[in-house]
Amino acid sequence: MLNRVYNFSAGPAVLPEEVLLEAQEEMMNYRGCGMSVMEMSHRSKMFDEIIEECQQDLRDLMNIPDNYKVLFLQGGASLQFAQIPMNLMKNRVADYIVTGQWAKKAWQEAQIYGTANKIASSEDKTFSYIPDCSDLPISPEADYVYICENNTIFGTEYKKLPNTKGKLLVSDISSNFLSKPVDVEKYGIVYGGVQKNIGPAGMVISIVREDLITDDCLEGTPTMMKFKTQADAGSMYNTPNCYCIYMCGKVFKWLKKNGGLSAMQQRNEAKAKILYDYLDSSNMFRGTVVKEDRSLMNVPFVTDSADLNAKFIAEAKAAGFENLKGHRVVGGMRASIYNAMPQEGVEALVAFMKKFEEENL
Ligand SMILES: *Cc1c(COP(=O)(O)O)cnc(C)c1O
Repeated sequence: MLNRVYNFSAGPAVLPEEVLLEAQEEMMNYRGCGMSVMEMSHRSKMFDEIIEECQQDLRDLMNIPDNYKVLFLQGGASLQFAQIPMNLMKNRVADYIVTGQWAKKAWQEAQIYGTANKIASSEDKTFSYIPDCSDLPISPEADYVYICENNTIFGTEYKKLPNTKGKLLVSDISSNFLSKPVDVEKYGIVYGGVQKNIGPAGMVISIVREDLITDDCLEGTPTMMKFKTQADAGSMYNTPNCYCIYMCGKVFKWLKKNGGLSAMQQRNEAKAKILYDYLDSSNMFRGTVVKEDRSLMNVPFVTDSADLNAKFIAEAKAAGFENLKGHRVVGGMRASIYNAMPQEGVEALVAFMKKFEEENL
């Protein structure tokens, strides 16, 4: 009836159907106020309730301690690559662990502001693993240690956080945001763009420990780029991405209703296992990263032939499996199986892959 495909996009990505239907229902007249959320003032009482509930639901889901601020910011995850050094690089030194394209971009951006040391990397093997981070050469002067916790493009994920030797940990969790329980206290800042595993594009949620929110930013930091400006104004120094906040709020309620982050982790592990088990048994398809570092969210895979990859992607698309083409820097295929991808979607994909394998081997 709805004619929906199974959407394996890495982002913007699949959203829960229930949430989309609810938004549709409220589109013309949000709860009797006679207008859509897109049309209301961000200073209205109605919107105030939306943003407050959104924040509270996220706090509940992630168990965010009181001494952390939740900021709804614009500029996506990519603007955090600059905002973080601008706010934290007091000594103008930071250590970066480069495990993929997003970590690399963050590391490059930080070089504008100071010395950004690459203290570990997995680029030697096309980012197909997470380096051992138990005893890294952390710089004595480092203001923070930076990681990207789930590598969207390459499909690896930290199973254990690095030993930062007492330094502040900053983590980009764009593509595994809310995929499993998280201990916020282990981080100085933990942040992510929402368009992967939460909501529509155009917003980043940055969870920042209070003592890091000060006026003492690098010289020349724009007012809007100070965490303090945003924190003092409750993320409404200027007009926020109101509709995105509203949609994320709905997804948070959906997550709560479905058992929260422990339940999500169980679901995600079950889903990923179906796909990885098949990849491990297949004579045609194989995963591209080392087993112990496999992501629960982004699953890259290949055949041994570029032609066969292309044929698979085309036939899968015709059969209703969308966005399986791998990122242009990796090639092959990638299935992103975020929270909103139902297990049936993964089962249907694996059944389709088996059939393709039988027909083409
Ligand atoms: C997509 C992605 C980004 C970039 O997000 P934008 O919101 O487009 O800036 C950064 N980091 C990770 C891990 C991502 O997956």
